Amino acid sequence: AKEFGRDNFQFYTPEFNSRAHEKFVLQGELRNALVRSEFSLLYQPQVDLRSGRVIAVEALIRWTHPTQGVVAPMTFIPTAEETGLIVAIGDWVLHEACRQNKAWQDAGLPRVTICVNVSARQFRERNLVSRVVNALRDSGLEARHLELEVTESLIMQDIELAVATMNELQELGVQISIDDFGTGYSSLSALKTFPVARLKIDKSFIDNVADDENDQAVVSAVISLGQKLNMRVIAEGVETEDQVAFLLKNNCDEMQGYHYSKPVSAQAIGKLLKAAAWP
Ligand code: C2E
Ligand code: CA
Ligand code: CA
Ligand code: CA
Repeated sequence: AKEFGRDNFQFYTPEFNSRAHEKFVLQGELRNALVRSEFSLLYQPQVDLRSGRVIAVEALIRWTHPTQGVVAPMTFIPTAEETGLIVAIGDWVLHEACRQNKAWQDAGLPRVTICVNVSARQFRERNLVSRVVNALRDSGLEARHLELEVTESLIMQDIELAVATMNELQELGVQISIDDFGTGYSSLSALKTFPVARLKIDKSFIDNVADDENDQAVVSAVISLGQKLNMRVIAEGVETEDQVAFLLKNNCDEMQGYHYSKPVSAQAIGKLLKAAAWP
């Protein structure tokens, strides 16, 4: 890669032009995607480690692009953030996720919490709380069955605003979890002031937790820390039996990952919940 030079010529390289062009095209396509109903949600179960029961499901967005097929969120969420389109997309996710959870409940399935990822841009919009209220009202879902996942770095951008918003959400009965925990820098003294129900330990600490002593130290410390602050702790990206064994031994509360299930369709979650209800 070229180094950033003394001048601005690097901004006019063909490489930049094509990337800028690609982004421009992507923005236009994203704008149309909502209208054309090209977004969908997959759902990944979160499991109580001791009982093995599904207690929550995380909604994960997918975009079925007209020519490129299914596109992963990491390729379009950043652009959606920059352009502000994430606010409308996030609103759709919130409504769809609440509607789906209510539909599972109405089908008589065991109740789970639906977890929705919220981006920094959505959180900075002053009306996030009323958008959440609308999604709950439109779907008829009770607030306690909705959880919002926010990252540490989002909270740290403006702690006061974040804590105020999280408090309002908590007063509504909506739960909050800290996503990708350990990858940002929330100070430990700030952490105790967050009205947070759960810490989600980032996958990067879980990957080698079966044999890396440093990761083992970090993960077991985060588990005790979270629990001492009255939070439940969930491990993300759990793929192997050895990881599960470590987490159980260290008293982790919950897990999410390919070991139990990849993200799947709403219908597949319905079957899973049904099997759990009537074994
Ligand atoms: P995340 O919130 O950390 O979600 C977990 C990601 O890890 C998901 O990727 C999930 O499919 C993947 N994953 C879960 N278990 C495993 C595992 O055992 N192994 C491996 N290798 N991967 C696993 P996905 O669905 O591609 O989502 C990526 C990121 O995109 C999410 O990371 C989240 O930051 C963002 N995202 C997804 N949906 C939404 C959304 O509706 N709104 C916003 N703002 N962001 C979203
Ligand atoms: Ca998440
Ligand atoms: Ca995560
Ligand atoms: Ca992540």
